[in-house]
Amino acid sequence: MAPGARYVVEKAEAPAPSPAEIVVKTSPAGPSREGFTRDTRPSSQGGLFSAGEKGPDVLDVDLAGLEKMVAGCTKCRLHETRTNTVFGGGSPSARLVFIGEAPGRNEDLQGLPFVGRAGKLLDRMIAAIGFSREDVYIANILKCRPPGNMDPKEDEIAACEKYLARQIELIDPVLICALGRVAGQNLLGTRVTLRVLREGIHHYNGIRVVVTYHPAALLRNPNWKKGAWEDLQMLKALHDEFTGAGRER
Ligand code: SF4
Repeated sequence: MAPGARYVVEKAEAPAPSPAEIVVKTSPAGPSREGFTRDTRPSSQGGLFSAGEKGPDVLDVDLAGLEKMVAGCTKCRLHETRTNTVFGGGSPSARLVFIGEAPGRNEDLQGLPFVGRAGKLLDRMIAAIGFSREDVYIANILKCRPPGNMDPKEDEIAACEKYLARQIELIDPVLICALGRVAGQNLLGTRVTLRVLREGIHHYNGIRVVVTYHPAALLRNPNWKKGAWEDLQMLKALHDEFTGAGRER
């Protein structure tokens, strides 16, 4: 784990049929769904959801209000080079949320998440587990495109994290699928490798998190599609397990 990371990763017994479960929880106290929005730890510690930049304005808005807030955001340098912000899209009451890294060129031009070839592949990944884009919600760690599709920088993530945190709180999904290393690491506040992240089921404030490959990486490395398929099957099994349990929403 990176120095200063705000999460403790523990190994735990796996619920069948999933592999060994990795429980990620805040330290020192376990997370609550409400807790992260009240967290006041300094954002300089790294990690996505515990920065808790004081922002009652963010906590007080609904999804539409949050989107407006993001559209006018100038909190990091990326606002200078963006064409459009990319807030996210899909069902506001989705049980399953996909989280990528940051908008790319096409997304920046259209203001929509996951368009272009990677978006089409994500559509096929979603369809492979029986859903459509309208059934799920898709968002990114960053709402503005880093020039040249560079990896998001720590200060950019820190500036943007409250938007995604609030987005997830409002959507209140039962499952999150992080797409790629950058999304997985920053969502979970850890620096372990994608290989390790893919081996387990993680938790973010009580929401189960599965990490798989980013669709753009799968386009570059078709050999990884078999592994992605296995990850998606785990995602589907977790979804069915949960919905089978008949949790009230
Ligand atoms: S990336 Fe996030 S924090 Fe930076 S300008 Fe865009 S919306 Fe604001």
